[in-house]
Amino acid sequence: MDLGKKESKIYLNNIIARGDYITARSICYDYLKDFPAPAGLSKSGANQTTQAYIKNFIYFLDNLDNIKGLYNNGKILLDTISIEIYQTKNKKLPFINYSNSPVSNCPGASACLVFCYSLNSIRFPAAFTRWAICSILEAEAPEILTEALLYVCNKRNNKKLIKEQGYIDFRLYNDGDFKDLNKLYFWMDFLKQHPYIKAYAYSKSWPLFIQAVKERGQNYFPNNFTLNLSSGSKYHNLKDIMKIYNFTRGEFIAVKIDRKTTGDKLTKHEKQYIRTKARSMGHKKIFICPGLCGSCSRVGHACGNNDIFKDYTIITPEH
Ligand code: SF4
Repeated sequence: MDLGKKESKIYLNNIIARGDYITARSICYDYLKDFPAPAGLSKSGANQTTQAYIKNFIYFLDNLDNIKGLYNNGKILLDTISIEIYQTKNKKLPFINYSNSPVSNCPGASACLVFCYSLNSIRFPAAFTRWAICSILEAEAPEILTEALLYVCNKRNNKKLIKEQGYIDFRLYNDGDFKDLNKLYFWMDFLKQHPYIKAYAYSKSWPLFIQAVKERGQNYFPNNFTLNLSSGSKYHNLKDIMKIYNFTRGEFIAVKIDRKTTGDKLTKHEKQYIRTKARSMGHKKIFICPGLCGSCSRVGHACGNNDIFKDYTIITPEH
C-alpha cells in the first residue's frame, strides 16, 4: 500500500482508530519495503519524506508500552524527529490548536468529505504523522494531551496573554473531530478544570453532544466551550436540537463559489453572491468569514464568541 496516497493514509487511519496497532505497524513496514526512500536522502531520516515520517511512526508504535517515556515538554520525541502535539504558529490560525486524524475520527462526516480542507493537508507527512500520533494519544494516554496543553499555556508569551486578557484561545480540533463520548467528556472535564482556556470547536459529531446533554444536562458543558455546527454532517436532521443548546454559537457553513479561495481573498461581488445564496438557504444573521482568525473582528474571533455572534451563520467559501 502506497502511504504517499491520500486513500491509503485514510485506510491506515481507520485501522489506527480501531486500535489495531499491529496491523497499522505491518502496513507501515510493508510500505517502507515496497517504496524505499529516493536515493540520496540522509540515512538518519531527518528529512521531509513520507518514508522518514513512517519510519518514525513505526518507532512510536514500537514504544507504545513506554509512551510516557516519549513525551517531553509538549513534544513526542521519536527516533529522528519530534512531534509538537499542539500547533501555535499558523498565519490563518494564531491560536493554540489541536487535531486528530480527519475522517476516521469524524463520525458525522458526510457531504463535507467533498470540501474537507484536512484532506488537502493529509498529503503533508508531518501533519499526517502528528494527527495519527494524537489519535493514539487520545486513546492510550490522554493525560499526555492535558500535560502538553498546560505546558504550552505556561510558555512565557501565553502566560503573559493569560495574565493580560484573562484567557487564552484554544481551537479544539483544527482537523478531525470528537470520535466518541469518552473523548467529549475528557475534553469537557479538562476545560471545566481550566476556565482560562477558552475553547471553541467545529463539530459534526452531534449525536455525542445530544447523548451528553441527556446524561449530564446542558450545564455540564463549561462556559469556556463554544460549539460551531459545521456543514456537511450526516446528522443534518439533528441540527435544530443542537441549535438550542446554550454552548452552541451557531452554524458555520461552506458555500461553493466558482473558484477555490479563502475568506480574505473574496471579491465584493463574491461576498454579495454568498450573502444572497445564504439568505436563499434561510440564514438570517450572516457573517462572512474574513479568513484570518487573529484579525477576524473588532471583538475577537467570531467563531469563539458565543455572545455577540450567537445564532449568526458564519460562512466561508469552499476551499
Ligand atoms: S469567522 Fe473568524 S474565527 Fe471563524 S474561521 Fe473565519 S476568521 Fe476564523
